[in-house]
Amino acid sequence: MTRKIRMTEKGLEVPQEPIIPYIQGDGTGPDIWRASVRVFDAAVARAYGGQKRIHWKEVLAGEKAFQTLGEWLPRETEEAFQEHLVGIKGPLTTPVGEGFRSLNVTLRRNLDLYVCLRPVRYFPGIPSPVRRPELVDMVVFRENTEDVYAGLEAAAGSREALGIISFLKSELGWTLREDSGIGIKPISRGGSERLIRAALDYALRQGRKSLTLVHKGNIMKYTEGAFRSWGYELARREYPGLVVTQEELAGAPTPPGKVLIKDAIADAFLQQILTRPGDFDVIATMNLNGDYISDALAAQVGGIGIAPGANINYATGHAIFEATHGTAPKYAGRDMVNPSSVILSGAMMLEYMGWREAAELIHRGIVGAIGKKILTYDFARLTEGAQTVGTGRFADAVIENMVS
Ligand code: NAP
Repeated sequence: MTRKIRMTEKGLEVPQEPIIPYIQGDGTGPDIWRASVRVFDAAVARAYGGQKRIHWKEVLAGEKAFQTLGEWLPRETEEAFQEHLVGIKGPLTTPVGEGFRSLNVTLRRNLDLYVCLRPVRYFPGIPSPVRRPELVDMVVFRENTEDVYAGLEAAAGSREALGIISFLKSELGWTLREDSGIGIKPISRGGSERLIRAALDYALRQGRKSLTLVHKGNIMKYTEGAFRSWGYELARREYPGLVVTQEELAGAPTPPGKVLIKDAIADAFLQQILTRPGDFDVIATMNLNGDYISDALAAQVGGIGIAPGANINYATGHAIFEATHGTAPKYAGRDMVNPSSVILSGAMMLEYMGWREAAELIHRGIVGAIGKKILTYDFARLTEGAQTVGTGRFADAVIENMVS
């Protein structure tokens, strides 16, 4: 029976035939969606032999919404994600210009999707700029609602900026240049703790080795430094017996079943993910660091054409799974681009819903297609002996390679 996904005291309750809202996306979004939805339906059908099925509900946003309804993000779209909890979206255009807030940021803010989740792993056969891409297997938990991304900014010379500068001078004795633009960087204990808790729960649930808190606390002591301290405090307070720190280990190996909690300064971390990626596993970090780190890691395993992502509120159950690349408008309607980012985001969604068997089939399909060098142009141009295929044909290859 068709029903809504609900959040209960025991966690997410997913019916056999849930309704899932989706946004196709702008530019290449429709090409990618057409291919991806076939992969999702095939994986679910194959995994559950008709016992489970997704009822897709299209909701509009971006250019399609603007052309049909005169609004970039109609209220009904937000309400659909609010009501059905779990949804998926393709890339959306963000018109450049003052006063226009990104649709992605608006959705994340309004649903309080405080975790930006980016798993980064290597699929053999994908061209990579590093020598040992197979050593990369990390899951980034990026805080999604605070930091300099909070949108608290005042332009240089504006009444707001001059007022803040004057307040800082009179109240705190801080002298700033009069022609400064001002941005505010809020990092709260509550915001940091819920993000780090989500990352630790994930690490324990998935049997991961370590959690690294990445920060610039040596310079920004009361924001990034506080994030680090709150992380260690939370781990000791809420997870006694389940976590261990490097100091406690004193060089000994991590006892089985425990998660090692450590931290790294962001600049050194960006070097170490290149020089010794095998040392890192689950990562928890703030918004801006998380943005840079996610894309740097994605590049190590083949770039944003294949990197999946999700925005999640683990307390309410709300989650939107999404492509990490943009709309690539020059390829729109040409059935050319790589649908892997949306396909793998869909696999993450199925895992989140507890439909692991279907997610696993998608992973096998992707591994199989790429392993046989059946590739879209972006990977094919970097791979000798590749068979270059379009978006739809790549999806066919994924489906054909979903061997149980
Ligand atoms: P983009 O759309 O990601 O495209 C930049 C380049 O990345 C493309 O020209 C292409 O490179 C490659 N690429 C992107 N997606 C690909 C795919 N699926 N398969 C293969 N290659 C892919 O970035 P942009 O041009 O900066 O942004 C265009 C629009 O997208 C803007 O309006 C921006 O605001 C929006 N955007 C949306 C999101 C989102 O909704 N999550 C994210 C980022 C940007 P080659 O030309 O080298 O082949």
